[in-house]
Amino acid sequence: MTEKLYDKDAYLQIFEAQVLSCTKTDSGFETILDRTCFFPYEGGQDCDTGYIDDSRVLNVWGNSGDIIHLTDKPVCGKVQCRLDWQQRFDRMQQHTGEHIVCGIVHSRYGYENVGFHLGNDDVTFDFNGPLSAAELEQIEISANNAVMSNLAVSAYYPDAARLESLQYRSKKQIDGPVRIVEIENTDICACCAPHVSKTGEIGIIKFTDHQAYKGGVRIHMSCGMRALRDYQKKQNSLDIISNELSCTPYNADMFFEKYIQETARLKQTAGRLRRELILLRAQSIQKTDSDIILFEEDADTNTLRLTVNALDGKYGGICAVFAGNDSDGYIFAAASDVYDMNQVANMLRRQLSARCGGDKHMIQGSINAKKNTVENLFKNIT
Ligand SMILES: [Zn+2]
Repeated sequence: MTEKLYDKDAYLQIFEAQVLSCTKTDSGFETILDRTCFFPYEGGQDCDTGYIDDSRVLNVWGNSGDIIHLTDKPVCGKVQCRLDWQQRFDRMQQHTGEHIVCGIVHSRYGYENVGFHLGNDDVTFDFNGPLSAAELEQIEISANNAVMSNLAVSAYYPDAARLESLQYRSKKQIDGPVRIVEIENTDICACCAPHVSKTGEIGIIKFTDHQAYKGGVRIHMSCGMRALRDYQKKQNSLDIISNELSCTPYNADMFFEKYIQETARLKQTAGRLRRELILLRAQSIQKTDSDIILFEEDADTNTLRLTVNALDGKYGGICAVFAGNDSDGYIFAAASDVYDMNQVANMLRRQLSARCGGDKHMIQGSINAKKNTVENLFKNIT
């Protein structure tokens, strides 16, 4: 059984150990030490990484009391081990932050934490009951108050009598000794992971997102430097937006709302002007005995239909008006007094996989084909 040094001292990052076995496998070398401070993948938290001598520790997991370290090179004898400390400390901050939030939610709402993931990019946890945005804001404030109170965090194995008397949270049934992690006046929880020893070390606790999840809520959270990096990123993004809108970051939401309304109004005007222009062009077309096939850059189906109607009596065979481009495809309206347009629709569906329909005089729909192909096809109808 591997001695778990992280159990007693979460801050130990360099240690000596004896290699008990090192076995070559398809993915590297599975190494067992007499003692370790590499925390294995457990309970939703990714494992520690680092070095055993100059071998890279790629993965760590538990197996019947042993901790297995997957290394990229073989190791033997007495070894010097080193954790990727920045990563470990960051996880201690996130994990302790999670305890504070779960403690507050449990005491305030009685909800259990039913899911947890702590990786390098995201921290999520799930509660088995719903929480509104306003409630989450209050929980966030209380959690940060607990950080600023710089409360003591302790980890211990209570004896059976003491354990019996403790009211503690636990995510699962635990066989063997129960390790309790206690945050002064805030939370008592069974947990085997490393945590910071004072809540002040966590830094800010910030919820970055939440969504309804399996009848409860899933929260995304960032603590400490992660939260700062998140703030910086959002600040940069908001600076760009507020510069473009000529406002401050504090009223960017109001200016953006105005911008959306103005854009909608401009789109409406542009649509109306485009329709008028297309119809004017159609009216200026001289009467012919041949077909009229027109391609417009941008128009809606209604405009295409109105244009075909405006050209009524000006063509001999068929009139078709398209809008779009070769890469996105075209929408169209087409009419004829000579040909049965239902048959034309059948042919377009068969030859160009068009989606279209209508009656024997007029059809409309969409085609995913190039302009040349469409033109050639229509030439062959007549
Ligand atoms: Zn924990």
